[in-house]
Amino acid sequence: MKAHDGMYIGGAWRPAAGQDVIEVVNPVDERVIGTVPAGTAEDVDAAVRAARAALPAWAATPPTERAARLAALRDVLAARADEIAETVTAELGSPLKFSQAVHAAVPIAVAGSYAELAATYSFEEKTGNSVVHHEPVGVVAAITPWNYPLHQIVAKVAPALAAGCTIVVKPAEDTPLVARLLAGAVHEAGIPAGVFNLVTGLGPVAGQALAEHPGVDMVSFTGSTAVGRRIAAVAAGQVKKVALELGGKSANVILPSADLAKAVNVGVANVMSNSGQTCSAWTRMLVHRHQYDEAVELAATAAAKYGDRIGPVVNAKQQARVRGYIEKGVAEGARLVAGGPEAQREKGYFVSPTVFADVTPDMTIAQEEIFGPVLSILSYDDEEDALRIANGTVYGLAGAVWAGDEEEAVAFARRMETGQVDINGGRFNPLAPFGGYKQSGVGRELGVHGLAEYLQTKSLQF
Ligand code: NAP
Ligand code: MG
Repeated sequence: MKAHDGMYIGGAWRPAAGQDVIEVVNPVDERVIGTVPAGTAEDVDAAVRAARAALPAWAATPPTERAARLAALRDVLAARADEIAETVTAELGSPLKFSQAVHAAVPIAVAGSYAELAATYSFEEKTGNSVVHHEPVGVVAAITPWNYPLHQIVAKVAPALAAGCTIVVKPAEDTPLVARLLAGAVHEAGIPAGVFNLVTGLGPVAGQALAEHPGVDMVSFTGSTAVGRRIAAVAAGQVKKVALELGGKSANVILPSADLAKAVNVGVANVMSNSGQTCSAWTRMLVHRHQYDEAVELAATAAAKYGDRIGPVVNAKQQARVRGYIEKGVAEGARLVAGGPEAQREKGYFVSPTVFADVTPDMTIAQEEIFGPVLSILSYDDEEDALRIANGTVYGLAGAVWAGDEEEAVAFARRMETGQVDINGGRFNPLAPFGGYKQSGVGRELGVHGLAEYLQTKSLQF
């Protein structure tokens, strides 16, 4: 157990304004592994002031120099990859291999991509008799969740800094330790004081104070749709820019011409990955009714193999929530073919890898984001039916289409109301814009589109 002190504000660790702390718990064994200060409005105010003070100089720093700092940050993250992976494993509970391959590796790639983009992006363009300058939005508030705790911060910090913005980060209360590691890395990378600031704390206290602060020009939020809606309302009151990465209920559409076994196996792996705590997970599998029984059998077998290989979910509340959804699925008449609501082990916030068959589109488990290792398999009659089901939720974050040939899959994907679609198992691309249609969000992260979120234009006419 380690008591971590201070907030990273204005380039140094400063004592928190209050005495309260947040306990960080290891979800595997439920032991308290550390504490961090619970920030108050006073800490938030100090951080926003530091970010405001640093803004003019950072905004005026040549993009190539900003790029050099981001390249240095990428290098520090790479040098500390093991420590990052171990920290995420300790506070999130993800298996170490997954922490290394994803939680530590993706932020290095993203920081690297923005080092390159900052150096190459055209911050100035000509149109007719005008010169258009792409200028930083200003002071950014970043409020992030625990499921990809470092990635979700770096996906905001790297583009914001590349754009010339300064930032205050409020990480999730469950995963503040890797955020503190990032602050150390920012310091080591020589990023000037006040450009990046970190306030740990509770959402309704520190998070809310940050979103409401009049010194903040933009709020970039990742998390639940419920909190996203509140933040957007607060921001609207002050006409602040918002970027929202919210929930998902993505469809994995397996067309009859697809390689069924491959599509089902990759689909199950996608949902079980990170214990189902992925906003873009393909939690609804759509299979043609002629192939339905075979797909259900394949999925049940695949899920059973995950048995004790997946980690726990993040905390007791999430465990209870996910189990509640599994019970609801049973109550509404879906058929359990793997897993179930029972506790797998005595200690730790584990949930069994669960697969439901005979799920109909109107069931709660087919409509709401569960955020646990739970897959629903639905059947469709024809392509139009599949499309109706795929598009039949309030969400539209991601999805997948499988078909015998790419053209057929692409034609279907083009009709889906969603921000990303993986074609026949296409891989994650850290340069591709990520974000939601409908209630999955507003704005895009990653790549050049993610950079543009943190810029505003000024037109000079000649
Ligand atoms: P959440 O409450 O939306 O948390 C996201 C972030 O917002 C955290 O930093 C949180 O702080 C903060 N926050 C909470 N209330 C706030 C407020 N009133 N003002 C400002 N900031 C606030 O998500 P959660 O409670 O951790 O998870 C609940 C559900 O959200 C999950 O089951 C899942 O369905 C969904 N979720 C989605 C994503 C995604 O990537 N789309 C990620 C995480 C969760 P605290 O950490 O202190 O709560
Ligand atoms: Mg919360």
